[in-house]
Amino acid sequence: MPGIWIYSEDSAVARQLLTAGLELKQAMHQAVAVLTLSSEDAPAFIAAGADKVYVVKGNNPWPESYAKAVADIVVKEEAQVVLVGGTLRGKDLAATVAATLKAGLVTDALSISYVNDAIETTRLVYGGLAVRTESVALPALVTIPARTFPEATAQGVGPGEVVTVETANADARVAITNVCPIVRHGADIAAADRVVCVGRGLNKKEDLALVEALAAAVGAEIGCTRGISEDYHWLPNDRYIGISGQKVKPELYIGMGISGQVQHVVGVRDSKVIVAIDTNEKAPIFEAADYGIVGDLYEVVPLLTKALQK
Ligand SMILES: Cc1cc2nc3c(=O)[nH]c(=O)nc-3n(C[C@H](O)[C@H](O)[C@H](O)COP(=O)(O)OP(=O)(O)OC[C@H]3O[C@@H](n4cnc5c(N)ncnc54)[C@H](O)[C@@H]3O)c2cc1C
Repeated sequence: MPGIWIYSEDSAVARQLLTAGLELKQAMHQAVAVLTLSSEDAPAFIAAGADKVYVVKGNNPWPESYAKAVADIVVKEEAQVVLVGGTLRGKDLAATVAATLKAGLVTDALSISYVNDAIETTRLVYGGLAVRTESVALPALVTIPARTFPEATAQGVGPGEVVTVETANADARVAITNVCPIVRHGADIAAADRVVCVGRGLNKKEDLALVEALAAAVGAEIGCTRGISEDYHWLPNDRYIGISGQKVKPELYIGMGISGQVQHVVGVRDSKVIVAIDTNEKAPIFEAADYGIVGDLYEVVPLLTKALQK
């Protein structure tokens, strides 16, 4: 019976959780099962190390319809740990399953380990100012944000088993009458490899042309601080980065005219290389930066763009 369970409606996130699940497997000596809504994804999970894949068949992909069925499976199989992708739907599902299991639930864990017969997690608190370590007795549910772990890759292990589960216990009280997709402007910034980000050091909307030119030169998506989108409305809301916006994890983040308040930095701190441009040498962004340029963005950015275009 698998003790470690993984679920995300996003198969890339599920493969990331599988990495965490396989680490727990080493420590807990328990098998790992992946729950998925797509039978097509099952072979990839098996190849990446899952011992068992449960394909949940349902009428629609909304958590309300299958959360009860998922809860029933993990209760029946006596799951010890359930790792859930920290998406909106994932958190919805995790809360339902935790209530059914009467289990503890930690959200937005950044690390997870098995210590003294319990699950130990870390996560950011106080707007990213501190890291809290928590210990949760088994059985435990943990939601993990996308891109916290690298995706598990094919290991050639097997054989693994695929089980199909009909959602006979689907909750019929909820009916979806209409779906309005979120309108995205450009690519998904959370998945971008390079991000050029602008803050309130920019004087006017027309000057975004400077940012666009640098972004084009380095092949980056454009992000911003909250004020640029929510107060000034110069960029759409899905472009702002931080604790209440998007979390990014690019190879390269270039921030300009950004003071570096913790509510913004918490969304960029996992970037591989952080470059900051600001006139104020004491701006907190420089504490988070690998490379800092103290200067006026109106002078620095055109020079940088020109140099990088060559
Ligand atoms: C509950 C809560 C949640 C929040 N969530 C978020 C969030 O998710 N994301 C977010 O971004 N913010 C968030 N904020 C707001 C956050 O606290 C900061 O106010 C915000 O990040 C500051 O944005 P900024 O750096 O663009 O502006 P400022 O703090 O005003 O900084 C502007 C910077 O530009 C520099 N500058 C000025 N002129 C130039 C120039 N010509 N060249 C170069 N540099 C120049 C200045 O020196 C300064 O450092 C949140 C706040 C709260 C209370």
